[in-house]
Amino acid sequence: MHKRLTAKETDAMRRLLVRLRAELLGDIGELERSALGETERAAIDSPADSGTDAFAQEFSLELLARDEATLGEVEEALQRIESGTFGLCEECAEPIPKARLEAVPHARNCVTCQRDLEARA
Ligand SMILES: [Zn+2]
Repeated sequence: MHKRLTAKETDAMRRLLVRLRAELLGDIGELERSALGETERAAIDSPADSGTDAFAQEFSLELLARDEATLGEVEEALQRIESGTFGLCEECAEPIPKARLEAVPHARNCVTCQRDLEARA
């Protein structure tokens, strides 16, 4: 059984999550601009070139969707820190190992439960 994070460790995770959120917000702004830029250019370019632009745009939008999903996870992790449930698996309520939280600060499940969830999905 793993120990819960100490107050100090939780604080370090909070700082990590806040920085991650800032990075994601920065990235989202960047990706929105590039996706929009591609749309404008596709309208101007000859039809022969539009295939490549559509692909580039789709790629940006896909990255954007993924970042927004991660951002939501990060926000929820910060809320869990506030409510004192951070670091506990949402499935089995056991503490999530510190190494996993360091790798995935917004993880909501322990590795065992995560595998179960993925296997069921
Ligand atoms: Zn679990």
